[in-house]
Amino acid sequence: MIEFRDLKKQYSVLQRDIDKAVLDVMQSSRFIMGAPVCELEEKLADYVGVKHCISCANGTDALEIALMAWDIGPGDAVFVPDFSFFASAEVIALRGAHPVFVDIDMDTFNMGPIALENAIKATIDAGIYTPRVVISVDLFGQPADYKAIKPICEKYNLLLLEDAAQAFGGSADEKKCCFFGDVSTTSFFPSKPLGCYGDGGAIFTNNDEYAEIIRSIRVHGQGNNKYDNVRVGLNSRLDTLQAAILLVKLRAFVDYEMDAANSAALQYTERLRSFVKTPTIKYGNSSSWAQYSILLGSNVRRDGLMSQLRATGIPSMIFYESPLHRQKAFGGVIANCPNTEFACERVLSLPMHPYLCESDINIICGVIDEYFSS
Ligand SMILES: *Cc1c(COP(=O)(O)O)cnc(C)c1O
Repeated sequence: MIEFRDLKKQYSVLQRDIDKAVLDVMQSSRFIMGAPVCELEEKLADYVGVKHCISCANGTDALEIALMAWDIGPGDAVFVPDFSFFASAEVIALRGAHPVFVDIDMDTFNMGPIALENAIKATIDAGIYTPRVVISVDLFGQPADYKAIKPICEKYNLLLLEDAAQAFGGSADEKKCCFFGDVSTTSFFPSKPLGCYGDGGAIFTNNDEYAEIIRSIRVHGQGNNKYDNVRVGLNSRLDTLQAAILLVKLRAFVDYEMDAANSAALQYTERLRSFVKTPTIKYGNSSSWAQYSILLGSNVRRDGLMSQLRATGIPSMIFYESPLHRQKAFGGVIANCPNTEFACERVLSLPMHPYLCESDINIICGVIDEYFSS
């Protein structure tokens, strides 16, 4: 049986160190804001190359806290790609702001810069909502096109919030994901590139003022101490246990997991490029391979391929089946995002993780090969 993301295998490799780290926390009994939390924040900030890392309870809170720190709310427009996980747009509605859905680039599945600028102009022309923030998503592990997106944010005086929930470890021109936003966020949900054993997240920024507000919001809007509340915040701390587990997993992530995932991706691409559109990683970029997502031709039955894979014990997933703007929660907003619609119909994600071995890849590609030749 091939796992979509093999967390059991990873645990078996790291078990001794993880078990010890967990036991140490239990013996210390500092379950909230124990020493590993601070140590992890320092290591993550170092890895990314930014001044501040503030850990928090999950990747969704991380996004919401950033919007809260900037006081985004009713009347504000926030731009978000139409092709992403729900949370990227959910947080906008949660703050009472107005999500504007932007179409994607067909090669990378990331936000299209021209589509973004058109959406900003249309929002300004309509005159109902004030453009404030762009949430760029580094989808499937690859950074969005910041060379194009950052100048657009500057031109229209918009804040950039980088949602790197799927891309911790990815990079562009030697800069790591979580570096690009005015504030950047990630998730440590178990199946993300760097995952913990429950929920977890982190927020990154070089801006001292934002960092101070974010730290305060994370703990009930605290001021000088826990019982001094200067603003309305959240309870969104990362558990000490999760931080201790992440410290062990971060070492493996840096030492070999990123290389192993990239090598698995290369093997897939070699084997599959003649049948399907394999992922495009732009020159100068690297992916942390949250997903290995292929695009099928219009003559290929996706459900047929999925059931053939399943019959051989191979899981595959569709990220994402529906454009965000069509989610019922957004109440039938209108958006013109043909690339997103196309991707939703044709995309398929294959098993991907650092412990995927060559023989598994051969089995998976063998089934796909067979499906295409029959
Ligand atoms: C997973 C994910 C999130 C949310 O992270 P959680 O830790 O599950 O709250 C946000 N954005 C994207 C793009 C994600 O993939």
